[in-house]
Amino acid sequence: MAIAVTNPATGEVIETFEPHDEAEVERRIAAAQSAFVALRDTTFAERAGWMRKAAELLEADVDEMARTITIEMGRPLAQSRAEVLKCARGCRFYADNAEDFLATEELADPSSVKASAAGTRWAPLGVVLAVMPWNYPLWQVMRFAAPALMAGNTGLLKHASNVPRSALYLDTLFERAGFPVGSFHTLLIPASGVERVLRDSRVVAATLTGSEPAGRSLASIAGSEVKHVVLELGGSDPFVVMPTADLDAAASVAVTARNQNNGQSCIAAKRFIVHTDVYDDFVGRFVQKTAALRVGDPLEDGTDVGPVATESGRDELAELVGDAIERGAQVLTGGSVPDRPGWFYPPTVLAGITRDMRLFQEEAFGPVATVYRVDSREEAVEIANATTFGLSSSLWSSDDDEINWFIDRLEAGAVFVNGMTVSHPELPFGGIKNSGVGRELAAAGIREFMNLKTVWRA
Ligand code: NAP
Repeated sequence: MAIAVTNPATGEVIETFEPHDEAEVERRIAAAQSAFVALRDTTFAERAGWMRKAAELLEADVDEMARTITIEMGRPLAQSRAEVLKCARGCRFYADNAEDFLATEELADPSSVKASAAGTRWAPLGVVLAVMPWNYPLWQVMRFAAPALMAGNTGLLKHASNVPRSALYLDTLFERAGFPVGSFHTLLIPASGVERVLRDSRVVAATLTGSEPAGRSLASIAGSEVKHVVLELGGSDPFVVMPTADLDAAASVAVTARNQNNGQSCIAAKRFIVHTDVYDDFVGRFVQKTAALRVGDPLEDGTDVGPVATESGRDELAELVGDAIERGAQVLTGGSVPDRPGWFYPPTVLAGITRDMRLFQEEAFGPVATVYRVDSREEAVEIANATTFGLSSSLWSSDDDEINWFIDRLEAGAVFVNGMTVSHPELPFGGIKNSGVGRELAAAGIREFMNLKTVWRA
């Protein structure tokens, strides 16, 4: 993919960028390595001061950056503003908590290991490569960058090729905030340039948020180099509605959980698994609220759903829906590509999904929901777990026993009860199965790229 800003609401190419050449990539890797040597000698207090300054810069730049995000990937403007402000929250969270998360621990009884003192210290690893997607162009990066820099690591960002303006904003943000030059830089390179960077001996680890094929490729290269990876990949999260649920709340949240960010969120609820006792009632409300969403120009006030970010993404969605319809799925709303410029796809609900349809297994990365009728909680959990993904899940019930039953059985990195899945700096985030390995955010996230050093003293 060319490195370019293309407005998905119009299909117009606004700006193109020359990729960094070999010499520039080399210069940036070397700068990241030198910055690591400088950064690891700074104190938590110094780094926290710079991180808080980064939060202030994000808040000052919110209008400009929200517009940039919306033009680059098509999300309604109010949601883009919320993303920028969430980044400031993430910076402050790690400024406030990194030192506690990485505190030295001493064994209470060192004589048990024949020592006068023994315990552990966390040490940063060095330069970490971050390969990131376009769907939350600042937040996806920030949840890596804020903990990494607070820990004393440095970062190199290979961002998605369709969000170069966001990538270049991040290229200077941390330097403007006071971090040593080179602490965090963007590499304007295509996906094919990742391998050379990852194999560089100065790059010690990598994180990738994106599709399963990209994750597998990065992990196999990292494996051959014995380098640690964190992978945040796709998801097809279940949203289970049981008879004791508050149906109106469940239906309203279901619409947001499926359609926010134009349906392009890894943790979006994608499959709605509803008990037969409340199926007609829930699905009726869900379809009615979905059909009422306003699709349009994401820069305009009042737009709920903008275009899909790329033409290929829109075409892929249309193919998945077409395959399901051919095999007998019923369209309850939406379901066809509109005749207008840009890469719009209408919020869609499909019923009658069977196991031979691609949508049963594959992720729909856009505003397409599938609904399933089930007779029991056993059947609900069987369908919920029937994909290769395991990112998050949402359960609607007011029966405590039932809630605990589901929490124990849903194969996912998270269960949100009577609410939609949201990433919070305070809570670990990540998946199991083909949704990825490792965790971001909270204490678990900052500890991923650290050396847990055992110290023993005679
Ligand atoms: P993608 O094609 O995998 O792109 C993501 C990033 O990986 C981009 O920077 C891309 O660069 C790069 N890339 C692509 N192929 C690569 C390869 N073989 N080696 C190294 N880098 C490679 O992902 P997408 O389709 O744009 O994004 C949507 C996917 O991301 C969905 O599956 C979604 O669920 C997932 N996602 C997961 C999370 C999570 O936290 N679990 C969050 C957001 C999105 P180019 O742009 O230059 O190709």
